[in-house]
Amino acid sequence: MYNKNSAYAEEFIDHQEILDSLAYADAHKRDAAVIDAILEKARLRKGLDHREASVLLACELEEKNREIYALAEQIKKDFYGNRIVMFAPLYLSNYCVNGCLYCPYHAKNKHIARKKLTQEEIRAEVIALQDMGHKRLALEAGEDPVHNPLEYILESIRTIYSIHHKNGAIRRVNVNIAALSVDGYRQLKEAGIGTYILFQETYHKESYEKLHPTGPKSNYAYHTEAHDRAMQGGIDDVGLGVLFGLELYRYEFAGLLMHAEHLEAVYGVGPHTISVPRVCPADDIDPDTFDNGISDDIFAKIVACIRVAVPYTGMIVSTREKKEVRERVLRLGISQISGGSRTSVGGYREAEPENTSQFDVSDRRSLDEVVRWLMELNYIPSFCTACYREGRTGDRFMSLCKSGQIQNCCLPNALLTLQEYLEDYAAPETKRIGEEMIERQIAEIANEKVRNITKERLEKTGQGQRDFYF
Ligand code: SF4
Ligand code: SF4
Repeated sequence: MYNKNSAYAEEFIDHQEILDSLAYADAHKRDAAVIDAILEKARLRKGLDHREASVLLACELEEKNREIYALAEQIKKDFYGNRIVMFAPLYLSNYCVNGCLYCPYHAKNKHIARKKLTQEEIRAEVIALQDMGHKRLALEAGEDPVHNPLEYILESIRTIYSIHHKNGAIRRVNVNIAALSVDGYRQLKEAGIGTYILFQETYHKESYEKLHPTGPKSNYAYHTEAHDRAMQGGIDDVGLGVLFGLELYRYEFAGLLMHAEHLEAVYGVGPHTISVPRVCPADDIDPDTFDNGISDDIFAKIVACIRVAVPYTGMIVSTREKKEVRERVLRLGISQISGGSRTSVGGYREAEPENTSQFDVSDRRSLDEVVRWLMELNYIPSFCTACYREGRTGDRFMSLCKSGQIQNCCLPNALLTLQEYLEDYAAPETKRIGEEMIERQIAEIANEKVRNITKERLEKTGQGQRDFYF
């Protein structure tokens, strides 16, 4: 029985409820009256439930689809302005005991090079990342209690936060590692992590079990209930995601939103972020093995419908996607992207890293190229990490989002951190474009007092001071 308040994965992600929602969506995909009513509700900017959003995703009326895209763009502008938060993944180790069929780190892959960074190597990677200009990382590691126990992850986080190379600093470490116990999450929280991210991969239990034949990750319930345990362990910013291509995308979409509804219902705060990776080529992985690959058009529609359904949830796209696709989905709802990423272990220092990548990067531009490209599209690249450092997490963060007050912080923080980037890391042309952008955008800060303080702080940043934030 479907119950979004349940503690059990199979009840808050109820298979029959998903099938019923998809049947409802099919029955109404050309029903203008129902679609209009859903759009009307979506315009209130309080979100939609999985069933309503599934109708929009299935919608086959061209005119209504145009309205869905227009609304997604409008909501994106209203909640996130033209800011895009930047981050980079850092791969600590590709040792893994699991058997995931879509990932080259699976335990049976004997020809991929296995590598785990020492603390010294982490130091070198982090210095390389700081020298690019990154301030926010997402840590990645396979699941292996011998090679990558939690103690190793915790030690690595301490190492990362302790490094201050020139003007550099990593100010927020998000973590994307295997499901833990409540106590494990408590330790991660104490280590000062930002968001705990765990992708579901697929919400379809039967497919999940086939795709995860061996290892601890094969336990569907333990994996699906991980975000609950993270919340119970005190981590109130959690990230969801599915790997599109493994199962039918409409099924995954409904499951993803049901998961968000569950977290909101039980903990009073929905997911902090949703990621939308697609299966992509890697060492011994051919995406064509999976029958459910989605086109760029469907991908864009998924992003638009998530934006409309959960306006307050940040949305992340990685360098799995090529430049053109990223450009399209930025408009429709993406609020965070990675730049200059390496998806191999030790990839930031080595010119030709060993064969240790989790996936082939489609967008291979440097961070500086990505920053300049964003500004040329009139987006402000933001290296802001302020909220978690100011204790604005969980429901406190969400209530500021819902009231719109967070906007008073986001724009000035974006400009201040962009100015730091321009001073310390940008190529001359990027710097020129960025300074013009800052000049133009200061006038957009609505609150006069905040505007004036921002001007003062920008000036001090120009004189060498760092790390101002609201
Ligand atoms: S997806 Fe994660 S758990 Fe699965 S094989 Fe890859 S690294 Fe291991
Ligand atoms: S102020 Fe908070 S919500 Fe806004 S960009 Fe910074 S960290 Fe994100």
